[in-house]
Amino acid sequence: MESKQISLAGVMAWPVSHSLSPRLHGYWLSQYGINGSYLPLSVPPSHFPRALKNLPNTLFVGVNVTLPYKETALAVVDVADDTARRMGAVNTVIVKADGTLFGTNTDGYGFLENMRDIILGWRADTGPAVVLGAGGASRGVCVALLDEGVPEIRLVNRTGMRARTLATELGRSITTVPWSDRESALEGARLLVNATSLGMTGKGELDIALDKLPVEAVVYDIVYTPTETQLLVAAKARGNAVVDGLGMLLHQASPGFQAWFGTKPDVNVELRNFMSENL
Ligand code: NAP
Repeated sequence: MESKQISLAGVMAWPVSHSLSPRLHGYWLSQYGINGSYLPLSVPPSHFPRALKNLPNTLFVGVNVTLPYKETALAVVDVADDTARRMGAVNTVIVKADGTLFGTNTDGYGFLENMRDIILGWRADTGPAVVLGAGGASRGVCVALLDEGVPEIRLVNRTGMRARTLATELGRSITTVPWSDRESALEGARLLVNATSLGMTGKGELDIALDKLPVEAVVYDIVYTPTETQLLVAAKARGNAVVDGLGMLLHQASPGFQAWFGTKPDVNVELRNFMSENL
C-alpha cells in the first residue's frame, strides 16, 4: 500500500499556549481533508535559532513564528523577502525543496485582505491615515498602507522616539504626532487604525474622542480580544464604517497554509464563528 508522508507545520513561540494558530490551521486541515498536522511548539529562547535552522532535517514544511521571535527569525532564515525586511520581522517560514529557509511576513497582507473583505472597493489613496501605535503590528500596517499608495500616515505613539524611528525607516510619507494631539490628528483623515494594545482585554481602554474624524473615514481596530472594542462601538454609533482585528488574524494565516499544504484556505463566517468561540 502506498503511504503518503504527513506534512507538519506549527508555531514557534515562548510561551505558546496562548496561540490561536493551532486551532485555526487545524480547522483548515480538517476542512480540506489534508494529511497534515499543525503543532504548538514551545521553544525556549536559548534553543530558538537552532530549532529553526534544523527544520529542513525534519518532516516540517514550515512554521509560523510569533512572540518573542519574529525579529530573531529574520536573522536566522536563509532568505527573507522585501516585505519581511522592511517590517523587520518574519512571521512565516517556508522550507524550500532545496532545504533553504525562506521567511516572509504576512501581517500586512492580512490587514489589507481583511479590509478589502469588509469595505468593498476600499482604496488607500483617497486620503490620510492615522495610525495609533508604533510597535511591531503598527510597522506591518504602515508598510502595507504605504505599498497601497496611502498619501500620508500620521503616526501617533505614546513614546515619540519609537514613532520617529519608524518614520525615519519607512520614509517621507509618515509624519509623527504626539500622543496628546491624537484627536486633532483625525481632521480630514480617511482611515483610523488602532495598532496599540489599548482596548484589548486586560489592557487599558483607548481614550480618544472621534468628533474630528470625518464620518466617511473607516475605523479599523486590529485588537481582536474583544472583537468589538469600545473604539469600534463609538465609531459605529457615529456612522463610520468599522473593521475588527479577527479577520486580519485569519487572513494573515492563509499564505503560510497555502505554501505548506498546497491549498488556499477560505476565510469565511463559519471560520470566524469557530475562532470566536475560543476568544
Ligand atoms: P507592541 O509592539 O508591544 O506595541 C504596543 C503598542 O501599544 C505601542 O505602540 C505602545 O506604545 C502602545 N501602548 C501600550 N500601552 C499604551 C498606553 N497605556 N497608552 C498609549 N499607548 C500604549 O505590540 P504589537 O505586537 O504591536 O501589538 C499591538 C496590538 O495589536 C495587540 O493588541 C495585538 O494583539 C494586536 N495585533 C493584532 C493582530 C491581528 O492579526 N489582528 C496582529 C498583530 C498584533 P509605546 O511605544 O509608547 O509603548
